[in-house]
Formats: sequence, structure tokens, C-alpha cells
Amino acid sequence: MLGRTGIEVSRLCLGTLTMGPLQANISPDEGANLICQAVARGINFFDTAEFYGVYEYLHKALRRVPREAIVISSRCYQYTYEGMRDSLERALREIGVDYIDIFGLHEQESRLTLKGHADAIRYLQDAKEKGLIRAVSVSTHAVEVVNAVRVMPEIDVVHPIFNMRGIGIIDGDVGDMERAIEAASGSGVGVYSMKPLGGGHLYREVPDALAWVMGHDYIDSVAIGIKNLRELEVDLAIASGREVPQEVLLSLAGEKRLLIEKWCAKCGACIDACGHGALSMGTEGAVVDPDRCVLCGYCVAHCREFCIKVV
Ligand code: SF4
Ligand code: SF4
Repeated sequence: MLGRTGIEVSRLCLGTLTMGPLQANISPDEGANLICQAVARGINFFDTAEFYGVYEYLHKALRRVPREAIVISSRCYQYTYEGMRDSLERALREIGVDYIDIFGLHEQESRLTLKGHADAIRYLQDAKEKGLIRAVSVSTHAVEVVNAVRVMPEIDVVHPIFNMRGIGIIDGDVGDMERAIEAASGSGVGVYSMKPLGGGHLYREVPDALAWVMGHDYIDSVAIGIKNLRELEVDLAIASGREVPQEVLLSLAGEKRLLIEKWCAKCGACIDACGHGALSMGTEGAVVDPDRCVLCGYCVAHCREFCIKVV
């Protein structure tokens, strides 16, 4: 049960960023097939966002699975009443549904940014009253935001970054986030965490990293991004306590590469941090030389924008 929302979700939530145009860029048909395969294996919870560009994948999947069989969570960066209305209408139209289960604010950084989104939150409350959504959410990489939503009755669900190394937390360590999440959950806020593998960087420790997050009973669901059926099978095996053969883990790890997301701010901090000379600055942002990159992950901690991933 996702907090006080009355929405029942599977313990694993399938994240769709990894399959979409920003990362693996599999086709909408392949994405829809992956979603259907996940439903067939007991996953009912799907996380997306306007920014990910994968609404069509869900639309196609919904031709094969009943609407009520899945819970959809999406969000956007809008901060005005009208902007939020436009984004929700777009999600409804492009996914082809008459309600979205959970809709909210993408990537809130502080109490101040939450305050700056007050009009958008007001629209979400109106949308909830009209039955267009069932719950209002906030996603975040900040401990401060998890603490703030605990005392905001208008927010039903929080979607925080959480992994055993604290990768990606912008204002504290893993212990700070752990305490904030437990308190939010104790107050009735639904919690589903993101990035149990730290944006792919814990790819050599998948079983331990996923089991660590799932060991926190007060986290209602753990969202993990996948891009193919083999990753789905491995994650499901780990989530249900089954052992995954070492050769399978090694073969998945061997397919990994470094990805710099499109929102790179061109600050150059990662380039200075890389001792292998694998990064340089291109016209659109930092670029990686795959022949030099050893996937050590040292550059990650230097990227304030959290736009370096292992995919
Ligand atoms: S992962 Fe390591 S080798 Fe690759 S770019 Fe980052 S710091 Fe350099
Ligand atoms: S540290 Fe991040 S934002 Fe800065 S240049 Fe590197 S990838 Fe881009």
C-alpha cells in the first residue's frame, strides 16, 4: 500500500527512463512489450515523467493490458496552475487514459522550490478532486524535500533517490536520507524510492545494492530502470531472494557504458576528475571516449547535475 493513498503497488516498480530516448532508446513497440512482460511477472507499478518521452510506450502497452491492472506515476517541471494543467492533459492524451494514478512535481531541490510550485500543487489538488489523478507526488534528490513533504498534507507520495552509497543525494548522506524517509513514511506519506543502483554506478554490486534498498520495509516500492528482459528477470530474481548466477551478472555488467545526459551544464568538473583522460567538452556538453573510460565512476561524485550514468 502506497502510504495513505489507498493505491496498491508491487514492491518493484519499473522505471521507464532507461528504456526511452534519453537512454537505451528502444522502440515504442519494444518498450510496450517490456511493460507487458513485467505485468505478466507481477509488476503493476510503472514510473515515468513527461521529460522521459515514453508516454507512447505506455499507450501501446495499454492496448494489451487492462487500465486497472497497472498504476502509472508521472510528473513534470511545471510550476504554474495552467502549465501543470497542460502537462497533465498531455499525459492523459498521450498515454490514452482518463486518469493518471500519481502525478506531481519533478525533481524538487528544496523547501524554496516547493514553495515556488504552489500554484502547480493547487492545480493537482483540483485535478484530484475531479478524479483526473488519485495522488499528488514529488520526486527529489534532496533530504530537505523529503522532510518538507512530511508536513505538507497536499503531497501524498514522495519519490526520493536512495541507494546504499548515497549516490546522487544533493544535501546529505545516506543516513540523513534514511531518517527522512522513515519519518515521512511514518507520517503516512507513500514512499517509492528511485535509483537503487545509483544511476547504474553500482552495476558490479547489483544483488547487494538492490537487496539493501528492499530491506527497508517502510519503503513501499523500489523503482528500478530496465532496458531489456534479461535485466527485468535479474531484478525480479534478486527482489524475491533468488540467487543470480555470477556469469549472468558478469554478462550484464560487460554491456555497460557511460552516458552523459543531455542536461549537462558544461561546468567541466567531471573532466578534471577523470584520471584516465576519458572526458572532454563538446559543443553540447561533456563527451566520453569509450576506449579510455574504465567505468570507475569517479567522475559521478563531481557532477552536481547527476547527469553521468552507467547504462
Ligand atoms: S567513469 Fe572513470 S574513467 Fe570513465 S569518464 Fe568517469 S572518471 Fe573517467
Ligand atoms: S560535471 Fe556534469 S554538468 Fe559538469 S560538465 Fe560534467 S557531466 Fe556536465
